[in-house]
Amino acid sequence: MKEKILEIEKYAKENNVPIIEKESIAYIMKYIKENNVKSILEIGSAIGYSSILMASADINVTVTTIERDETRYMECLKNIKKCELDKRINVVYQDALEVNLTGVSYDLIFIDAAKGQYTKFFEKFKYFLTKNGAIITDNLKFHGYVGKSASIESKNLRQLVSKIEGYIDFLKNNEEFTTEFIDIGDGLGVSKKKDEK
Ligand code: SAH
Ligand code: MG
Repeated sequence: MKEKILEIEKYAKENNVPIIEKESIAYIMKYIKENNVKSILEIGSAIGYSSILMASADINVTVTTIERDETRYMECLKNIKKCELDKRINVVYQDALEVNLTGVSYDLIFIDAAKGQYTKFFEKFKYFLTKNGAIITDNLKFHGYVGKSASIESKNLRQLVSKIEGYIDFLKNNEEFTTEFIDIGDGLGVSKKKDEK
């Protein structure tokens, strides 16, 4: 398993696939164990790195993960198979904003897809959380740019960073959810329903 994970890390590096930082996935794996998480929905599979590690946190975990890029989706399937986790990880090849979910709920929803769409993902998928479930969001620091959007030269980057800043405000001012911001890796947010804390 260790060896296979290293191979996936190597592929990610060589092909510029943005996988989660070690500290952050370690935090999530600990969260899974401590909170007895059994069902996970991940938005943004890339090549399966984070879903494989989340599934390996506990034998009872099942993951549904969504990816819209064909090459990454194919690589993801390959990696999951290689790690013998295809019985516990289901990969959906679709744009997450177009996925139709009914009659399902998840103990943990991990948002790690297009950073400009974070608020949309949150608003769409919050209805699929189990009681006491959490939404964890990655990359809230976005490589240190968050909080400094006004001074960014490149227009595209500035717009993206200001969207993440907007998402952080959305979380801070949210009436339904309380968010704990965790300053590890590229920054994580852990959001839980207020009345069920
Ligand atoms: N969670 C992965 C990394 C995901 S990178 C890990 O840590 O190992 C983000 C991925 O989200 C990219 O592969 C991108 O193609 C995908 N993505 C971006 N927007 C998406 C959307 N709207 N629906 C589905 N996938 C999306
Ligand atoms: Mg990420």
